[in-house]
This record gives sequence, structure tokens and C-alpha cells, in this order.
Amino acid sequence: MATYLGVDLGATTIRAVVGDRAGRVVGADRTPTPAGPTSVAITEAVLDTVRGACGDAGVDPESVVAAGVGAVGPLDHDAGVSVDPTNLPADVGRIPLVDPLRTLLSTDRTHFHNDATAGAIGERFFRDGGDDLVYLTLSTGVGAGAVVDGHVLSGWDGNAAELGHVTLDASDDARICNCGGTGHWEAYCGGANVAGYARDLHDGEATALDLDDPDLGAAGVFDAAADGDEFAARVIDRIGRWNALGVATVVHAYAPRVVAVGGGVARNNPDRILGPIRDRLPSLLRVARTPEIRLTDRDGDAVVRGALASAITGGTGAPADR
Ligand SMILES: [Zn+2]
Repeated sequence: MATYLGVDLGATTIRAVVGDRAGRVVGADRTPTPAGPTSVAITEAVLDTVRGACGDAGVDPESVVAAGVGAVGPLDHDAGVSVDPTNLPADVGRIPLVDPLRTLLSTDRTHFHNDATAGAIGERFFRDGGDDLVYLTLSTGVGAGAVVDGHVLSGWDGNAAELGHVTLDASDDARICNCGGTGHWEAYCGGANVAGYARDLHDGEATALDLDDPDLGAAGVFDAAADGDEFAARVIDRIGRWNALGVATVVHAYAPRVVAVGGGVARNNPDRILGPIRDRLPSLLRVARTPEIRLTDRDGDAVVRGALASAITGGTGAPADR
């Protein structure tokens, strides 16, 4: 059996899967992404996870035919590295990925993508996403990958559709993003920023949320809203407005037929994330038809499966290229 490899370097988890030409997964492994201290530690963890997945599949890494990698950006695509990712520890620097993998696997057939681009490739391959789709990840951060007219958009350095850092809020009191910029989509809707946004919005009203708790995260805010906390519900409503504006920007830029939404924040709160986008989008769009907004990534494996699909299809995700 010809075996293919998919790898996902995420801000919190490294995943690897081994699969056959049809995309059936026959081995997998995962590990928490190390918090540094250096880029070498992260590269080593990626290689260990790949060895683990190969071991689980009972194959030698050198027998892998081709590999796909989806990684947290920004990327230096030609160098095969991820550069100072926003949601990894500061000053981790350049994380080598492609060259070490080629050495481990003894193959030059590696395809390297921004993580959300890998998600788009997977959506195309596994879910019949077609020639015009956007994969949107609402996770620790916000990102997107696009397939337009059957082409996977990569762009200069591989950073096309880096929508998390598009400016949605140009007001004077806009929030500061993890990247240092101002008013970015991710500053409001990235999971790492939800609690901070709640603190910004709080104006003395009653709430069950402990806003002074440094460990308060997105899950706490969404859970409180689900439990009927009116203040938390207001925060979630505001997040819904930003997400709708962001998705409208995506639709105007890429004209997708499908917007597939993944990432932990969406996965854990599908109705509270997708509902406001679906409700608000038609009034925000100036296109003839509103695309389908659907949830993907039910198990958190959209990026790694997309990386596998990239390996199988030579980077396109088109089932015909298998
Ligand atoms: Zn930003």
C-alpha cells in the first residue's frame, strides 16, 4: 500500500496522520505543541509525532510516498519554515519544517501550506467542496484558506487569505491584536482574545463571569452565555457581528460557493458561531447569491486531514488529481 503523510503544526497541538491513496487514515499521533524554548524543540516534537503516526500505522517513515504540512503562519514558503507564529511563545523564531521532514522521510514530495489553506484542501478532497471554497478557522486565532476557480491560493510566501489580521475595526478604541496590530478580526474573535474582549466590554453589569480570573477563556464566556448570563450573551452577540463582517469580507474577496468553518471555537459552539453569521450575512453582501456556511472539522482534524489530502493530490485537493 502506498502511504501518505499529513502533518498539522498548530498553536496548541501537533498532529500527524498516515493514510492511503483514498485518504483513509491508518495511523495517527498527536502531542501538545511545546512552549519553546527554541524552534528546535518544536521541530523535534513535529518529527517525533510523525514517527509516532508511522509507528501506529506500522510503516517505516522512509516508505512514505509524499507528505503535506499545514502550519501556523506566517510562513516563509520557499524556505519551508514557519516564522514567529503569532500564537506561539514570543521570539521562538523560524521553525524549520520541510527540510527536516524531507530528511526523515527520504522524499522531496512535500507540500507546505498555511494551516487554513490545508483545511481548504481537505474540504475540497473529503467533502466535495468543489472549485470555489473558503475554509475559515475560528480557533486560538482566526485564519482562512481559499480555493478559487480550482486553484489553491498560496500567494507570495504562502500567506494568501491571512484574514485573521484584516482590519475590521478602525475606531480609536479598537482592540490590540496578538500580532500587535489594531482592530484585527482575530483581536475580537480569536479564542485567545475572547476573555479580554469581555473585560473590555464590561461596564459594571451583573455577570456570573469572574472577569478577574486570569484563567478565564473563550469556553468560560460561551458557557456562561449558554447558561443564560446576559452579559456573556452580549459579548457573544458582539463576536457574532464581527464574524459576520469578517465572513462578508471573505465572500467579497473570493466568491466562494461554500464557507466551511472549523477550529475549536466554532466546533465547541456551532450554533452560537454559525447562527449569527448566517443571520447577518445576507444583509452585508453585495453578491447575487449567499454561499453555504457549514461546519467542518468535527474532531479537530481538518488541517491534518487536509495536509494528507495535499500529499495525495500533489497539493491541489482535487479528487481527480489523486
Ligand atoms: Zn493581528
